[in-house]
Amino acid sequence: MAKFILIGSGLAGGLLAAYLGRRGYDVDLYERRADPREGNIIGGRSINLALSTRGIHALEQLGIADEVLQHAIPMRGRMRMIHDKSGNLHFAPYDVDPNKHINSIGRAALNTTVIEAAQRYPNVRVHFNHRCTEVDLDSATAELVDSSVEAGVSPADPVRQVIEVSADAIIGVDGAFSAVRQSMHKKLADFKYDESYLAHGYKELTIPPGPSGSWQMEKEALHIWPRKSFMMIALPNPDGSFTCTLFWEFEGPRSFASTKTDDDVHRFFDEEFPDAVPLMPALLEDFKNNPTGSLVTIRCAPWFYKNKVALVGDAAHAVVPFYGQGMNAAFEDCVVLDECLAEFPDNRERAFAEYFVRRKENADALADLAIDNFIEMRDKTASKTFRAKKKLDHALEAALPGIYLPLYTMVTFTRIPYAEAAQRARRQDSIIYTGLTLVSAIIVALLIHFIA
Ligand SMILES: Cc1cc2nc3c(=O)[nH]c(=O)nc-3n(C[C@H](O)[C@H](O)[C@H](O)COP(=O)(O)OP(=O)(O)OC[C@H]3O[C@@H](n4cnc5c(N)ncnc54)[C@H](O)[C@@H]3O)c2cc1C
Repeated sequence: MAKFILIGSGLAGGLLAAYLGRRGYDVDLYERRADPREGNIIGGRSINLALSTRGIHALEQLGIADEVLQHAIPMRGRMRMIHDKSGNLHFAPYDVDPNKHINSIGRAALNTTVIEAAQRYPNVRVHFNHRCTEVDLDSATAELVDSSVEAGVSPADPVRQVIEVSADAIIGVDGAFSAVRQSMHKKLADFKYDESYLAHGYKELTIPPGPSGSWQMEKEALHIWPRKSFMMIALPNPDGSFTCTLFWEFEGPRSFASTKTDDDVHRFFDEEFPDAVPLMPALLEDFKNNPTGSLVTIRCAPWFYKNKVALVGDAAHAVVPFYGQGMNAAFEDCVVLDECLAEFPDNRERAFAEYFVRRKENADALADLAIDNFIEMRDKTASKTFRAKKKLDHALEAALPGIYLPLYTMVTFTRIPYAEAAQRARRQDSIIYTGLTLVSAIIVALLIHFIA
């Protein structure tokens, strides 16, 4: 069987290693960080994530969905909770079916579960503290440095410090700032690459558990504080806490940059999130100490080089987090790549090419949907018109089951490819708006007729 090197054992890297291990491939997985089970975890990334149908399907194929979901908190279909500036709450249902829910899951628990799933296959080996610096595409060779030395954790050892490893193919599962992708960019003259950053950054803050580990707000809900140009969200954790994420402009008169003093922080939160402030005793320390992350969309092509190199997950298509789909999409990549390798067992280049064709337009569609959903979450969820449109969506979904599906339902609760979901939603919208315009025209015509 062929040998694969995977670079990056984040969410998709661990899962892909398990998929490849199950097919009998020889797999070496190299990760620049220390083993997450040693407690050294994931600075600067979101602590919890929304896991939905696509991601769960990918986990089910390996028989590990239940193992993962036992660490999750369901955020019920009817429980998108909107907090207005006066501290009042409104429910905005995701879906007509109250049984449909997304799941809040800790990144560390999920990462550990997928790595352990991979390690159950004796043909998969995981090597932590190895940072890839360069890939030679033609020979499928990766140069790796011992990152525990870089971090000052281990003493320098000139023999171990830089190593080269080779395989039949290398897969870059090394996230948005992928070293594997950078090597492709350097080497391939026709490599297309585009990165764009939002003007907003994000910062994570905490609502700790209440007395005896209770949740201080509704537990089974995604909480949103929409404030037009910015917003805060909160997802529940199993220990009774909530992780809040503030998405706010980097620059401007009211922004991360202009909020310098303790008073600035207090004033901003008291004005905008008055009901959250009493629940956040460590607000000031969190605000000052936690990093401000950036939000990037990365599009590139192709995602493979001959039968030697491929890209999976954020390395191929980082998206902004507002549809809660980046990891779900990365997991879906693993399913599709596994299917392609099974369909073309003797032609890996064809398998990589098919995988790219099947995923690229969907990744592009998701990138657009994710940006649109930022505007919807931060601005429109607070508006009455938006809530009326959602009610109409749900009424139509109930009246036309299987025929009318709201976009959010298709993206989150089905495996309809993202591009098809986006297209179908546009068609549905245009039929509804045409219908509504016609009905309004008829009503106006009738009124004029009867009044005249
Ligand atoms: C604030 C925020 C909230 C999010 N919320 C959600 C959500 O609710 N739902 C959802 O589905 N998605 C969400 N996402 C997106 C999700 O985090 C990513 O899509 C997902 O982590 C991608 O998985 P990945 O394995 O491709 O990359 P990563 O998880 O980034 O893993 C990459 C791994 O590669 C390693 N690595 C990097 N460079 C090297 C190197 N040179 N050598 C060796 N190893 C390397 C890294 O250490 C890391 O372990 C969110 C993202 C953000 C920023």
